[in-house]
Amino acid sequence: MKAAYVKAPFQFQIREVELPEPGPNDVLLSIKASGICGTDLHIARTEARDWQPFGHEIVGLVEKIGSNVGNVSLGDKVVVESGSFCGKCADCRNGRVDLCHDRTPNVFSRVESDGFAMGFAEKIIVDSQNVVPFEGVSFQEASLVEPMGVALDLSYTVKPELNDDVLVVGLGPIGLMATQIAKAMGARHVFAANHSRSKIRIDVARQLGVDDVIEVDKTPISSYKFPRGGVDKALVTAPPYVIPEVLGVMNYGGVVGFIGIDYGEGRFITFDANTFHFNKLQLRASHAVPALYFPACLDMIKSGAVNVKPLITDTFTLEDIERMMKRAEKEKDRVIKAVMIG
Ligand SMILES: [Zn+2]
Ligand SMILES: [Zn+2]
Repeated sequence: MKAAYVKAPFQFQIREVELPEPGPNDVLLSIKASGICGTDLHIARTEARDWQPFGHEIVGLVEKIGSNVGNVSLGDKVVVESGSFCGKCADCRNGRVDLCHDRTPNVFSRVESDGFAMGFAEKIIVDSQNVVPFEGVSFQEASLVEPMGVALDLSYTVKPELNDDVLVVGLGPIGLMATQIAKAMGARHVFAANHSRSKIRIDVARQLGVDDVIEVDKTPISSYKFPRGGVDKALVTAPPYVIPEVLGVMNYGGVVGFIGIDYGEGRFITFDANTFHFNKLQLRASHAVPALYFPACLDMIKSGAVNVKPLITDTFTLEDIERMMKRAEKEKDRVIKAVMIG
């Protein structure tokens, strides 16, 4: 089978590799859809010092199963959890699988010749614990389930409630799904903040029911006239530097959820801890590892609570991975989610 490999900066190879026979707990999938994530772009930019496989937003059809596999059958459509939990550690046994530190099993698939393969390939072997079967959702839409699990983890971290005014910062795929989840959880108003140059992200946000988009290069979040003066909950899907400004627009008792990374000096921020204290604010981190909530995410796509179709701006085939990765990097404001079709 063919599998794609990446080496920084933005070098790609498609290799012919052999998959071994699946082990007793393994499932062999033919990959039907696979999304490009911001993490893949980061890997291509600087992270991959040597050739490595990539792609972790995977949907497939079950082609072979090991002798112990009981949760799926041949021909089933499945979404692949990008990382699971061990089920053995103290956190798992205390009912907090979300806190498990043991990231196995994950989505690295052993291949005979070249070590591993991942989501940008024709096939993959994964542990049966990582596959969630589904019906009634297209392969392309199902490829958004993995990042939707991230948006849902962020939302559970903050728990928007009935009649809350909510601010979502950053209109990437996570932000665009978080706005819809906040509405579904009962928010009164959902505001979004994004740079004005990404017209398509702003248009999609409005189409998906955001009440207003703050174009931060024209109106800083701190000077926007929120109907309640500020917001009750904020979901930040942007680099850390925005946190102090967001803390400044929180209503009394407000809660800020954060998912965002800066690999440079921007990781360090300062904010007014006195305001934080006297306004009884909270700042909470979301990190959706292990990958959870896939059945709920599939249900939300089916019910229409979260519409992922407008997020898929580009589709491509494995042969085109290099062109698509480079375009996703150069045209960030035009590409929301690019999905490989297998
Ligand atoms: Zn991802
Ligand atoms: Zn564990």
